[in-house]
Amino acid sequence: MTAFWTEADYDDHELVQLVRDPKSGLTAIIALHSTHLGPGAGGTRFWHYADPANAMRDALRLSRGMSYKNAMAGLPMGGGKAVILADKAKTKTPEMLAAFGDAVEALGGRYVTAEDVGISEADMVAVSQHTRFVSGLPVEEGAAGGDPGPFTAMGIYHGIKAAVRHKLGKDSVKGVHVAIQGTGSVGGGVARLLAKDGARLTLSDIHEDRAEALADELDAEAVSPDAIMSVACDVFSPNALGAILDDEGIARLDASIVAGGANNQLARAHHGAQLAERGILYAPDYVINAGGIISVTLEYLCRSHGQPCDINEVRKRIAQIPGRLEQIWQESDASGVSPDVVADRMAQKLIGR
Ligand code: NAD
Repeated sequence: MTAFWTEADYDDHELVQLVRDPKSGLTAIIALHSTHLGPGAGGTRFWHYADPANAMRDALRLSRGMSYKNAMAGLPMGGGKAVILADKAKTKTPEMLAAFGDAVEALGGRYVTAEDVGISEADMVAVSQHTRFVSGLPVEEGAAGGDPGPFTAMGIYHGIKAAVRHKLGKDSVKGVHVAIQGTGSVGGGVARLLAKDGARLTLSDIHEDRAEALADELDAEAVSPDAIMSVACDVFSPNALGAILDDEGIARLDASIVAGGANNQLARAHHGAQLAERGILYAPDYVINAGGIISVTLEYLCRSHGQPCDINEVRKRIAQIPGRLEQIWQESDASGVSPDVVADRMAQKLIGR
């Protein structure tokens, strides 16, 4: 038997809880990395893991990522994450979501959950029948909160503009060529915002019809998923999968900047330095993609205080993302340490590690 705390991804997590409810068939892991700055906030992933050990690794890695993300976004929240281990058919029942909500409630507010891969807004509404410690619930049109995707896209758009300023010395993205991998909620939003500013776009999605339709709408070009990482461009913006920046992926890049919303873009820790060695400016993922968590956190805090949430406050905080990136890049330029490591050190300091 192996102990999870001997895992490479265990990082003095404050709590790792296995939740089993045989009646509903729920098996879940709730990982709280740090509550130094506040309750651990981070979404719930619903996923089928062929090897359950990977569910534990995901929970450990993702919860630490949330500690860093929330700290760097200046939010009064720590880092946590939950994974629900789905069966092969990804069977999801109301009883399962209810049992999960009960488990979150039992933690008494140390963990606050929201949507992640495989969990919809409707699922969160179901969970919210059993716990108060939930965010990402439906909100009125124009209010802060709800689907985090558009807010994440807004932060990435600001971050790309900052990167273009820092690396290319340009104050506008007009004519700047951005290759976008993934045209879903986040990537599609980023593309639309950049198109308004006159950026030149190349788009790609494994659902090729999705990328093509968006390319038609925005007068952009669509390429196959295999081609997107080697497109000669100014900015490569990954908005689909994690771990795409590995030896092979980095070697293929023909871009000056990597700036996008996908979580855990670097396959391994040394790939940040590899990007820097190639002269490619990297926007640390958990810093540039914090727009969504900023929105759901403010939604949660406002709801718990019984106040309406001002969308302008969310916009103001998202507009601070470029300043944080600039601070990281300046420190990286001055020290020769790659931006991902500079960001990690800043985040660790903020969470008292
Ligand atoms: P989404 O499911 O709406 O979109 C993802 C898109 O990527 C889909 O259209 C999918 O077909 C496409 N895709 C998958 N594999 C691909 C590949 N190999 N090549 C090209 N396209 C591929 O998801 P999303 O909410 O837009 O999230 C995108 C990424 O951003 C994820 O990594 C997610 O973890 C991260 N993220 C999202 C948010 C948010 O607020 N939604 C916040 C932070 C981080």
